[in-house]
Amino acid sequence: MSTNQLLKPVTTEYKEHLIIGGCDMVELAQTYGTPLYVLDEKTIRSVCRDYKEAFSSYNNVKMMYASKALCNSAVAKIVDSEGFGFDTVSAGEIYTLYKSGIDMSKVLFNGNNKTPDEIELAIQYGVGRFSIDNFHEVELISKISKKHNRQIDALLRITPGIECHTHKYIQTGQLDSKFGFDLSQIDSIIEHILKVDKTIKIRGLHAHIGSQIFEPKCYYDEVEVLVKEISRIDNKFNIKLDEINIGGGLGVKYTDSDNPPAISEIADVILDSLHKNIEKYGIELPALYLEPGRSIISTAGVTLYTVGSSKQVPDMTKYTAVDGGMADNPRPSMYEAEYYAEVANKINETPKEKVTIAGKFCESGDILIKDIELPALEAGDILCVYNTGAYNYSMASNYNRAAKPAMVLVNNSQSDIIIYRETLEDLVSHDNIPDRLVR
Ligand SMILES: *Cc1c(COP(=O)(O)O)cnc(C)c1O
Repeated sequence: MSTNQLLKPVTTEYKEHLIIGGCDMVELAQTYGTPLYVLDEKTIRSVCRDYKEAFSSYNNVKMMYASKALCNSAVAKIVDSEGFGFDTVSAGEIYTLYKSGIDMSKVLFNGNNKTPDEIELAIQYGVGRFSIDNFHEVELISKISKKHNRQIDALLRITPGIECHTHKYIQTGQLDSKFGFDLSQIDSIIEHILKVDKTIKIRGLHAHIGSQIFEPKCYYDEVEVLVKEISRIDNKFNIKLDEINIGGGLGVKYTDSDNPPAISEIADVILDSLHKNIEKYGIELPALYLEPGRSIISTAGVTLYTVGSSKQVPDMTKYTAVDGGMADNPRPSMYEAEYYAEVANKINETPKEKVTIAGKFCESGDILIKDIELPALEAGDILCVYNTGAYNYSMASNYNRAAKPAMVLVNNSQSDIIIYRETLEDLVSHDNIPDRLVR
């Protein structure tokens, strides 16, 4: 089984309570408070190794963790130690990696509206690759790189026109997208860069076709488009591009009904397409970049909540509320994302009631899980929601002036804080009262 096909972290055990990374989840909730993000180090390393093994037959592959899924210093260290580089989309992510001591030449900067300040920072810190997304950005990069007297290694982000079956907010590769150059615009941007700008060196093409992808065929088609374009560009402009970056997007198992393909299955399809199309279009073997985000970090993460109030609507839904919700996990309210959960302190009891797990925030849409079968819940129980490693903390907000939860890393029965819980003091620390309001 590939790690992305598991519903729970690889170290999950059932003893008197739910155990992850050798740690008792009920004890962790008591020690660190709830809501609490828990991250299992072995699961992260296990996925990284699945990726490396799956692509081991291709000797020029570069794994870049898409840090927007979850970006903090400890995660950066773990992923770095597995030999991965990083895909980033903001000054905040770049700064986090820099401060964590990451080799910045292994970082790629991507995004559809990089600001001048962000470009400046990326150039100063020596980010290894820029993924150029639009014409406006070429002018900015060119100006700033000249000022710093730096040559910029760039990929061109293209929209390959591939529709994948995933939620429309997380589709990015279809033609009508805010990301990247349409295939019909590639030539003019290349002409422009070749003519105007000697500071930008185009190394290859970049695409990303969406997220939570279950169909390997999407990647086959994507690789073909990229290889075909590289060959066409070579013929027309006589420039050899030797890098293709196929983005991320591989799906994970949020509930029993999700059946994502194994990493090895995806790898076989990608490499098959690469070899066949290289032959077909007559180019040399390029460096292959992958940017998995969700599939690296989702399964490793769980969120612990304390159960509070309940409401039985007569003859209808039973709502049971927990002490977190859309501020720490906005995905259900944003994308109708589904999650699975268990009761950490009742792990050996059989489910006997159907409940809807509600959050505590002031929105009717703040529902974490609709209709899940669980043991009878009581106030004080510890609910463990699985697969919250990706796009939970990274999308968390302070809605309702909620303090963001802490995050704990577990491994070999040891637990360590990797993000401190925000305090009430933190919440007001950026406030300012203008003098005229002080009396
Ligand atoms: C979001 C994103 C990724 C990661 O996607 P996942 O679905 O989390 O694997 C990779 N590359 C680019 C360019 C992205 O925007």
